[in-house]
Amino acid sequence: MKAMHEYLSKIQASPLRVQILSIFLEQNTSMGAYEVLSLLKKVKPNAEPPTVYRVLDYLIKQDVLHKVAGGKKYILCQQKHVTATSKKNALLFTCRQCSKTYEYSDDKIGHFIQYLTNQYNIKPSEEVLEITGACNHCITHQEN
Ligand SMILES: [Zn+2]
Ligand SMILES: [Zn+2]
Repeated sequence: MKAMHEYLSKIQASPLRVQILSIFLEQNTSMGAYEVLSLLKKVKPNAEPPTVYRVLDYLIKQDVLHKVAGGKKYILCQQKHVTATSKKNALLFTCRQCSKTYEYSDDKIGHFIQYLTNQYNIKPSEEVLEITGACNHCITHQEN
C-alpha cells in the first residue's frame, strides 16, 4: 500500500480531498460513492453527494483512484503511472473470495488492448482493464 504523501504529490490538496483520501487509506478497500459519503459525514456532517462525486472524479483524473466493479466502486491506485501510457498497461484484478483488488502493471496488457483495438476496430474507454477470479492468496489457502 502506498502512503498518503505519495498520493498527495499527485494532487492539489484541499481539506475535502485529503479527508476523502484518508477514508480510502483507512478502509484499504474498494468503496461506492455512498459508502464514502457516509464515512465522510462522520467528520463533515453537511457533506452532499455532488461534492463527493466531484472529488472522486478529480482523484480519478489524477490517477489516485480507479473505478472497479464495472464503474460502481472506487479503489486507490497501487501503481505509479509515471507516463501517460502506463495506465493502459494496468490491470485491476478483484478476488471474488476475499474481495481484495490488486493492481498489476505490465507492457503485455497494453499491447494486448492495442491488438484488440486494431483487430476488432473497437475503442476502449479510459478505464483500466478489470477481471475477477481467485487471488493467489485464496488459491494457496484452499490447496492447504
Ligand atoms: Zn493505477
Ligand atoms: Zn482472495
